[in-house]
Amino acid sequence: MKVLVINCGSSSLKYQLIDSDTEAVIAKGLCERITIDGRLTHQTMGKEKYTVDAAMPDHNVAVKYVLDALLDKETGAIESLDEIDAVGHRIVHGGEKFAESTVISDEVMSAIEECNDLAPLHNPANLIGIRACQAHMPGVPMVAVFDTAFHQTMPDRAYTYAIPYEYYEKYKIRRYGFHGTSHSFVSKRLAELIGKDIKDTKMIVCHLGNGSSITAVDGGKSVDTTMGLTPLAGLPMGTRSGDIDPAIIEFIAGKEGKSIEEITNILNKKSGVSGLSGVSSDFRDLDAGMKDGNDRCRLALDVFCYSVKKYIGAYAAAMGGLDAIAFTAGIGENNPYVRKMSTADLGFMGIDIDEAKNEIRGEETKISTDSSKVQVWVVPTNEELAIARETVELVSK
Ligand code: ADP
Repeated sequence: MKVLVINCGSSSLKYQLIDSDTEAVIAKGLCERITIDGRLTHQTMGKEKYTVDAAMPDHNVAVKYVLDALLDKETGAIESLDEIDAVGHRIVHGGEKFAESTVISDEVMSAIEECNDLAPLHNPANLIGIRACQAHMPGVPMVAVFDTAFHQTMPDRAYTYAIPYEYYEKYKIRRYGFHGTSHSFVSKRLAELIGKDIKDTKMIVCHLGNGSSITAVDGGKSVDTTMGLTPLAGLPMGTRSGDIDPAIIEFIAGKEGKSIEEITNILNKKSGVSGLSGVSSDFRDLDAGMKDGNDRCRLALDVFCYSVKKYIGAYAAAMGGLDAIAFTAGIGENNPYVRKMSTADLGFMGIDIDEAKNEIRGEETKISTDSSKVQVWVVPTNEELAIARETVELVSK
């Protein structure tokens, strides 16, 4: 089957056409600056990558450009739209309504819309993307794959905030967690790599990218995760603060005369390692800064790694044991320093990293020593492939 995977943001649309039999990417690309002006970058594998500027006043037009790029006689990948058997859509927030992926129907669209409040920047854009695809590919089955679904197995003690219970009842304020597609994909692969039935495993998945989250996966199920009602919680990130004392918000508001919206914006966009270092949100720049003696780059890296380490300890305690840890996403896959510092001095827990093996980047590799009781692996994530697999499974039923 050929599956088109769509990841729609408010002004962007990423796509991959995947052959689900071989799991190979046939073509991929990105529309940017939708509603502003518009730019398409497309590559059919084995052919040249190109970028064109094209007016994209809305997502409908962007989808039309994507399909035209896929159909192009010289640079495209298919001869007819009939070759696209299904479309898989990444949806950010499924609230409590979706514990798994689902075939998209009118009722599903309404249910996703009801979650708009929980992810006002993302879900409306996701819905626009679905509608645009439906307009151009009527009759093609479409599947929604939710970032939150994998975490719906968390017990109430892990997802409930200690605030008046009525806020959960009235507004569904609770921990949801994100990056679920990645945590699910990587945990399944990690169980294969350590040669155990996933039902008998206790694992921690560290998805460390621009956005970072860690999940405790017990018996293949998410039992706790660091992100919360929104992706602002948990670890410090590229530009997001992660967990802070909630009283800081009122304190800054009073001192700086700022509104709650302004402070939330600062916590989302000007905090994390970027705000700490004053240099960059990109860990490569922090590594370079630290090597040059920039102490705030050193501090940003220290704060980040210390937080990862604390969650590893916390989740091992939450699960009452630990068989394996996976590092994934941009930083997890490519940053030996972060992996080393986040697991340093954890020998007492049976975690022992092999410094030479840890030097690898971007490859599936065991980085713990052979005597380490807990196996530690780098497992590259592939959210698009995970979405394509889910899509095929659901439309083949
Ligand atoms: P996003 O959450 O936007 O998908 P990524 O998973 O791409 O982000 O992670 C971005 C981070 O990963 C950056 O801080 C960057 O330093 C790091 N990173 C990505 N690729 C590499 C690489 N090849 N080498 C070193 N660091 C990398």
